[in-house]
Amino acid sequence: MILMNDFKAEPPEIREAMYAAVKRVLDSGWFILGKELEEFELCWASTCGTDYAVGVGNGMDAIEIILRSLGIGPEDEVITTGMTAFATVLAIARAGATPVLADIDPETGLMCRKSARNCFTPKTKAIILVHLYGQVRDMASWVALSQDLGVKLIEDCAQAHLAQADGTVAGAFGVAGAYSFYPTKNLGAIGDAGAIVSSDEQLIDTAQRLRNYGQSLRYHHPDLGMNSRMDELQAALLSVRIRWLKPFTDRRQEIAETYFTNISNSRISFLAVPQNPCAHAYHLFVIKCEQRNKLQEFLSKNGVQTLIHYPIPIHQQISMTSISRDPSGLKRTEHFANTCLSLPCHPQMSDEDVAKVVKLVNDFPG
Ligand SMILES: *Cc1c(COP(=O)(O)O)cnc(C)c1O
Repeated sequence: MILMNDFKAEPPEIREAMYAAVKRVLDSGWFILGKELEEFELCWASTCGTDYAVGVGNGMDAIEIILRSLGIGPEDEVITTGMTAFATVLAIARAGATPVLADIDPETGLMCRKSARNCFTPKTKAIILVHLYGQVRDMASWVALSQDLGVKLIEDCAQAHLAQADGTVAGAFGVAGAYSFYPTKNLGAIGDAGAIVSSDEQLIDTAQRLRNYGQSLRYHHPDLGMNSRMDELQAALLSVRIRWLKPFTDRRQEIAETYFTNISNSRISFLAVPQNPCAHAYHLFVIKCEQRNKLQEFLSKNGVQTLIHYPIPIHQQISMTSISRDPSGLKRTEHFANTCLSLPCHPQMSDEDVAKVVKLVNDFPG
């Protein structure tokens, strides 16, 4: 079976380096908020080109903490997309704010600017732009729109590690970026972890307090914070795994290139090809097919695992049926959810695996 992720197939050097990192942490006798986290935070900030990074418990908390650090909460509205991980929208709700869903651009699956404008009200305080599948697109236009509307631009970078446009890395375009290091992300921990990146010193100060019970100095709690700290073990493991992030991202981009060049079946369409390959981290390689379910079954029967990101748009979740949205509706999101399919595109795939996926997709009889 060709899988969507295959950690057991990772190079043995990674495993060896991770064992050494685990030993280092165990031997240190220090497990929370220590040198390993500080080191990883410096490294991640420099990777993203921001002044600071704050390690937190997971990607969802990263979004909630960013919102709370900006003072966004009850009475405030935050615009985002209905085609995203549930965590994006749940984080807005957890911060006490009101999520408002914009429709997507079917060419990319990303939030549509016209629809985002349609969602704007005097209560709007921020736009959370999700770099879905790893795509960083039209950033100058998003920065301009957020300035025009007078709202904060926050980036959900959970799928976009190292994706960059015009020399700027995901997370450095807006006021802050939220990263997830969930194991299956392009940079994954051995458990849950996340980070906030920003060059806004005040936001970072507040975020550092909020992740640690709202504590400023020991036993002083000016804010009602959370417990959302990245632990030393995950930080040490991430400092190992980050050494493979660039070659692994290169491999994802190479696989995507092979798919673009060699898949040719009139029943299948691609998302828009990025102008520059660096602008897509290919966390997921997504195609569209009107007979999506049939295609998925065909691939599965022939030994290729696929997944759907996402089969149920946010506004169709039973906990979210009354969520605010673009008054014109979310028709494009709904159609996309019924036609999108994610093909395997992970760095452990061999050339033979990639060729097999290509051949099968091309052979899909419809
Ligand atoms: C994974 C993901 C999240 C949530 O990250 P966790 O670390 O699982 O909390 C948020 N947004 C997007 C787009 C994601 O893919």
